[in-house]
Amino acid sequence: MKPANPSRRAFVLGAAALAVGAGIGAAARPCAASCDALRPPGAADEAEFMARCIRCDRCISVCPTDVLYPLGIEAGVLAVRTPALDFRAGSCTFCDLCRQVCPTEAIGSVDPYAPEKGRIGGAQVLPARCLAFATPGSCGICVDACPYGALSFDDERRPVVDDSKCNGCGECVRICPANVNTSFSGGDERGIRVATGKQMEGVEA
Ligand code: SF4
Ligand code: SF4
Ligand code: SF4
Repeated sequence: MKPANPSRRAFVLGAAALAVGAGIGAAARPCAASCDALRPPGAADEAEFMARCIRCDRCISVCPTDVLYPLGIEAGVLAVRTPALDFRAGSCTFCDLCRQVCPTEAIGSVDPYAPEKGRIGGAQVLPARCLAFATPGSCGICVDACPYGALSFDDERRPVVDDSKCNGCGECVRICPANVNTSFSGGDERGIRVATGKQMEGVEA
């Protein structure tokens, strides 16, 4: 049999060591990205949610809009398989099913019309990505789509968020076409996002 090329073998071993190191790095950050994950509506605060959630997957399986997904190792080892929301897949209708199936009361009930009592997050327009900022009047899909009347136009027909009405349902993010049109500039953000409390305070996870 032909012996392995030593330089190739060293390269493969080095790459494997790097991959293991990256995995250990992620595992060593027990609450890395998860601290900034958008949790199901009515979820307890992050520390309590992490303590209560038994990673049973029931909320993810029952969600009719497929907005819930299990976090992976990149969120930190303790957060693996805890549920988070991805508005590229769907939005939250506050149907309450995830709360009903949760065996540990990690998820609570939310009145979507009273966001001051609890919400998923808060919408933020991203001027660098929003089409209406690039060309005023060219888009306003999110304003029409918001089920809670939390979006309106400014004088130049650019979207503005009314924070007192926004519950973080994510419908504006789901429907925003900006990623399709601005993807050449990199990243996968759309023209609007739903920020966690930490992101809104400018705190990095
Ligand atoms: S309230 Fe309904 S739509 Fe929202 S995350 Fe839970 S199951 Fe999904
Ligand atoms: S149903 Fe409750 S315990 Fe199960 S994964 Fe969802 S939040 Fe965690
Ligand atoms: S997340 Fe978007 S669609 Fe949902 S209430 Fe807030 S502004 Fe409206």
